[in-house]
Amino acid sequence: MATERVGVVGFGQMGAGIAEVCARAGLDVVVTDSDAAALARGQARLESSLARAVGAGKLDEQGRDAALRRVRAVTGLEELADRDLVIEAAVEDEAVKCALFARLDEIVEDPQAVLASNTSTIPIVKMAMATRRPESVLGVHFFNPVPVMPLVELISSVRTAPATAERAEAFVTGPLEKSVIHAADRAGFIVNGLLIPYLLSAVRMLEGRFASAEDIDAGMVLGCNHPLGPLALCDFIGLDTVALCAESLYAEFRDPAFATPPLLARMVAGGLLGRKSGHGFFAYG
Ligand code: NAD
Repeated sequence: MATERVGVVGFGQMGAGIAEVCARAGLDVVVTDSDAAALARGQARLESSLARAVGAGKLDEQGRDAALRRVRAVTGLEELADRDLVIEAAVEDEAVKCALFARLDEIVEDPQAVLASNTSTIPIVKMAMATRRPESVLGVHFFNPVPVMPLVELISSVRTAPATAERAEAFVTGPLEKSVIHAADRAGFIVNGLLIPYLLSAVRMLEGRFASAEDIDAGMVLGCNHPLGPLALCDFIGLDTVALCAESLYAEFRDPAFATPPLLARMVAGGLLGRKSGHGFFAYG
């Protein structure tokens, strides 16, 4: 069954990237956000990412204009009624996501439609059980920046139907041309189960005055050939998102490796969210 009409919930960093790759693949995209100001920011993010692709010679101007025409940004979830696939990329908050899935269940008309979450850490079955069609719900976890990163993690819950997983995989590997890995439905899946404790260790190292932020990051960039150091990566992901991911991993495993370091919590409370707020562990112009 072909997937042609895609819905995206949340027009933040990830929602904008997901909308972009779907539109560039020739699909019709409706993207929604509860916040009108976020819609404007998402549209600006989409336009500047497409402009970068044109500048890098990866897209021509006609392709850019066609992609922009395929994305419709709206505030009402009701506009997702006719979608074949909806990808939820709202804030990493279990209550918000479960409420969204309950509404999507009421709104999306096709009983065969796939309802996917881009969650980094929240168990998929929780969102599935907020609907009356848990067999149609799965995790489709993209990486940031979506137009650049080749990977998608696919997560079936204990209630996901094989047909749902097959349809999602065909969509991701077909029109989106991404590689797929499969993970069980445990908080953090594969990548964030490994990445988040590493990032939190770097924050603890800074908090304990073991080394400067610059030296911690240089250690991993120059010593391990990582493209970004862990603190710059926290800034890139968003410190609020890193802290929310840590909370859901800690809730699942009760392992101190996943506990939010006080410095991270204080920075989030103080509005230092990384690149998106202009300041995190480093400053951005
Ligand atoms: P973000 O803060 O950039 O965007 C979140 C968006 O969700 C905001 O625009 C917000 O207005 C919107 N939103 C909040 N509540 C909503 C609701 N009820 N209905 C509709 N929209 C709502 O966050 P992000 O970095 O794009 O992360 C979004 C999701 O993607 C999270 O689940 C996160 O864990 C996951 N994710 C993030 C990254 C990353 O590197 N940032 C990578 C992979 C997955």
